[in-house]
Amino acid sequence: MILLDCGETSRAGFFPWWHPFFRFACDIAIEPGEEIGPQLRAMGIDPGRDLRALVLSHLHHDHADGMEHFEGARIVVSRQNYAASRGLRGALLGAVPSRWPAWFEPEQIDMREPGVPGFDGSVALTDDGTVFAVPTPGHMPGHLSLVVRTPKVTYFLTGDATYDEDLLRRRIVDGPASDIGESLRTMDAISTFARSEPTVLLPAHDPLAHRRLDERRVLIDA
Ligand SMILES: [Zn+2]
Repeated sequence: MILLDCGETSRAGFFPWWHPFFRFACDIAIEPGEEIGPQLRAMGIDPGRDLRALVLSHLHHDHADGMEHFEGARIVVSRQNYAASRGLRGALLGAVPSRWPAWFEPEQIDMREPGVPGFDGSVALTDDGTVFAVPTPGHMPGHLSLVVRTPKVTYFLTGDATYDEDLLRRRIVDGPASDIGESLRTMDAISTFARSEPTVLLPAHDPLAHRRLDERRVLIDA
């Protein structure tokens, strides 16, 4: 079992009012029982022991701060995103390195394996290569997305490479982006990929993603 991202913590209030992330952070408020740890345990999954890997698309607080539940797990992040998320630079980009657990030493990956349509590189996360990561920078340096190939369709878990399918179709960069031009190139790369095989788009914040998942509705009809 591979998990992409681990959500927010219930301990909110860590961005001062002047921080550029404040207006995005303030509408994310969860209760302790809604954190990823208790939710996985309720499903009979021990977050520290039962996963093949926790893959982090990027280290923004709302995708990574739930990491505190995953001590002992293999945690994977791109080398570039980990570097960008540390220290003051990371804090200004929307990561919260001051709250990472002392044991947090993620496996840093590079996209050194052959590319797929739209992307120059990739890295396999399973032995058979059906689950792999591709570089999708722009929202944040070193941001990655996860691709899951199944016999009938391919699922493209974008993280925050786009906030929803409509924005991708219209080539609109929404929310904080460290490089808007790079974000657009990433969105075009995802579209190129989706033209090469039937692809269901699953952005992290897209409220309609679960419906497309249920219906296996593809982005572009072949
Ligand atoms: Zn983000």
